[in-house]
Amino acid sequence: MPARTGSEFIAGLRSEPREVYIGGERVSDVTAHPAFSGIIETLAHLYDMQHDPEYRDELTYVSPDTGDRVGTSFLQPRTRDDLEQRSVAMRRWALYSNGMLGRTPDYLSSSLMAFSAAGDYFAQDDPRFKQHVEDYYRKAREEDLCLTHTLINPQINRAKATHEQADPFLAARVKEERDDGIVIKGARMLATLGPVSDEIEVFPSTVLKADPKDAPYTFGFVIPCSTPGLKFVCRESYDLGRPKHDHPLGSRFEEMDSVVVFDDVFVPWERVFLYGDPEVANGAFGASNAVLHMAHQVIEKNIVKTEYILGLASLIIDTIGIEPFQHIHEKVTEIIIGLESMRGLRLAALHGAELDQWGIMTPARGPLDAARNLYPKLYPRFVEIIQQISASGLMAAPGIADLEAPWGAEFEKFFSAARATPRERIALFRLAWDTSVSSFGSRQALYERFFFGDPVRMAGALFHTYDREPYMERVRAFVEQGVEESLEEISGSGADSSGS
Ligand SMILES: Cc1cc2nc3c(=O)[nH]c(=O)nc-3n(C[C@H](O)[C@H](O)[C@H](O)COP(=O)(O)OP(=O)(O)OC[C@H]3O[C@@H](n4cnc5c(N)ncnc54)[C@H](O)[C@@H]3O)c2cc1C
Repeated sequence: MPARTGSEFIAGLRSEPREVYIGGERVSDVTAHPAFSGIIETLAHLYDMQHDPEYRDELTYVSPDTGDRVGTSFLQPRTRDDLEQRSVAMRRWALYSNGMLGRTPDYLSSSLMAFSAAGDYFAQDDPRFKQHVEDYYRKAREEDLCLTHTLINPQINRAKATHEQADPFLAARVKEERDDGIVIKGARMLATLGPVSDEIEVFPSTVLKADPKDAPYTFGFVIPCSTPGLKFVCRESYDLGRPKHDHPLGSRFEEMDSVVVFDDVFVPWERVFLYGDPEVANGAFGASNAVLHMAHQVIEKNIVKTEYILGLASLIIDTIGIEPFQHIHEKVTEIIIGLESMRGLRLAALHGAELDQWGIMTPARGPLDAARNLYPKLYPRFVEIIQQISASGLMAAPGIADLEAPWGAEFEKFFSAARATPRERIALFRLAWDTSVSSFGSRQALYERFFFGDPVRMAGALFHTYDREPYMERVRAFVEQGVEESLEEISGSGADSSGS
């Protein structure tokens, strides 16, 4: 089946009722609920772009199995050109949301692409798992599926291991092993886009202990979001159903986060990729290099997002005439430095790409690790800069209903600007507000801080995995050389003094 259109994506959601809880309601047809209408419209547009003659060649390629055109994010890159093609497609989709969507479908198709190439890794514990991973990748590619994922166990008590929690079934675990599959009970947090995805990837986080007691929590599988017993418990929606003028971002790009509850969910064996072996499970993202292909999607998105922040900050400065002030220059320069750093890291990752052991052209790890440790610090600062340069302008931004009210014209002139009409200024500041103050904007900062993992533990992982030995050796040699030269000088000067 070729890449889907937007209406096919929506029809798929409608034909697969799921169990979603939001605002005191139980919803099964998410296409009919206002909390999801903005994001569904946006995802449908992304799918439609695959058929737009302007983007078709970027966003799709010819399936090696069927000859149909399928999504480029499923492309297994064998050459640098393939990797570049993936970059172009990822950037194209990110441009549509100015990087405000974290979970465009290319994020998780990148993981499936890498898992499938690394089938032998998954075969370690059970030879069937290799076939399962490969079959599922082909299915997702040919059916153009949109996936979410959930990796993290509920917070409960982080000072204790998963198996030490008071109730062993709070974190999702295997309740029963059957001839035809496994039954899962418990919960996971968090699944962004969960309620409006086709399927959910349920993989372990990388904190499983090599302790048999953690084995029941050790699995990796993908199932439809409509699977009986699977429940999505949503937070409050940040799409408040307001006009696009008032909530330019929230009304379009609210991708929703949800806690996922497994109420005796049956998973057939053919959907299981990992099972019962913490060591293999912990290594899956790293050994398959899925983490690097996902990080590649993230850096493309974050470059687009930073370009947006630079454009927004610059337009605000121009609009209210604050360009003469030196600290404004310094703040914009911070954004530029962030942008150029991310671009440089992207370039270095692609320049250093090599074929991995699975025959996949894989971006270099060092620059991508640097980028995913850097951006959680950059983005919250960008949000702060938008607040600092906008000041009370963020509050002086009435909605379209106020402007259109009979008295609207009376007040309009008080929203004048150095280089914009009152209406242009208000629309711009609504956007700045939705970027930096609204619940949507605050959640973006939280997302960038955490979605790729706890920044503290990510830094710890980099500390432990980065090969620092050559540099220690160089410094060690320099120190030793200095010591030797000093000793020689001392013994030389001693000989002189004794001889005089
Ligand atoms: C907006 C948003 C969207 C997300 N979307 C998804 C998604 O789609 N799928 C998904 O799987 N996950 C998602 N996540 C979850 C994300 O992966 C986690 O937030 C991240 O891994 C951190 O885990 P945690 O939130 O459980 O924090 P915790 O691990 O509970 O950490 C809480 C605090 O305690 C500290 N802490 C806890 N344990 C330790 C330790 N051992 N050592 C040092 N410090 C520690 C942390 O540094 C942090 O300050 C999302 C998160 C957010 C905020």
